[in-house]
Amino acid sequence: MTIIVNDVNKTYASGEVTIHALRNASLKVYDHKIVTILGPSGSGKSTLLNVIGGIDRFESGTIKVASQDLSSMKDSDLTEFRRNYAGFIFQQYNLIPTLTVEENIEVGRELSKNPLDMKDTLEKVGMYDKKDKFPYQLSGGEQQRVAIARALIKNPKFLLCDEPTGALDENTGKKILRLLKFVNETYGTTVLIITHNQGIGEMAHTVIKMSSGEIVETYDNVSPIEPE
Ligand code: ADP
Ligand code: ADP
Repeated sequence: MTIIVNDVNKTYASGEVTIHALRNASLKVYDHKIVTILGPSGSGKSTLLNVIGGIDRFESGTIKVASQDLSSMKDSDLTEFRRNYAGFIFQQYNLIPTLTVEENIEVGRELSKNPLDMKDTLEKVGMYDKKDKFPYQLSGGEQQRVAIARALIKNPKFLLCDEPTGALDENTGKKILRLLKFVNETYGTTVLIITHNQGIGEMAHTVIKMSSGEIVETYDNVSPIEPE
């Protein structure tokens, strides 16, 4: 399930100005890897995840995921792709406040053709005991666990995480990173993580640095450290 991004350009029109969110971005992500994307605000990190996950279209270049060419897909195929292949995790959890933990996760399960088991998923993220709670009754770290479960239960090929620890204190953030690493190792899910935190880069197999829409550096960590 290699992800190959080749020479991708994406612009936004902002009044009279054209913003180059991605400039000739090229990248290869191998199966089962954890990849972190570092770079200042506005450097194109979210845009990169959004085009890989099939949320956004792009103007030129190609993106191939498991040999499927996203650039040539029609909208309905792109939606299918997004539902079955990609799991999204955001800084602000984006849970539905009127639904319980289990019901929020059920939203993910219903999207997928090949979902995982509910009880097993709840147990894997450590939220089985709180399955009947509502989001407001949970801590930030617990809400993020639910958001991870909602993405994971789809049995996605990859998880796209946009600042997943950005709203959490350092210790809780480390627990979330450990959970993402556990998911990577248990299910073989490829995990892409956007972060401002240089330290998070050290747990990844591969680190990508972006600046002004360009991928300016890519390197592999020979022995990624465990988030303690
Ligand atoms: P981050 O730096 O955490 O990635 P941003 O504030 O850059 O967050 O972006 C958050 C969301 O808002 C993204 O989904 C992005 O596509 C969107 N966004 C960013 N800048 C603009 C903009 N100028 N106009 C409209 N939407 C934007
Ligand atoms: P990052 O995630 O690194 O903060 P983004 O990918 O969110 O960067 O944004 C890259 C650039 O594209 C920024 O200049 C941002 O303001 C702009 N941008 C992102 N989304 C939109 C949007 N929906 N409309 C207009 N401009 C956007």
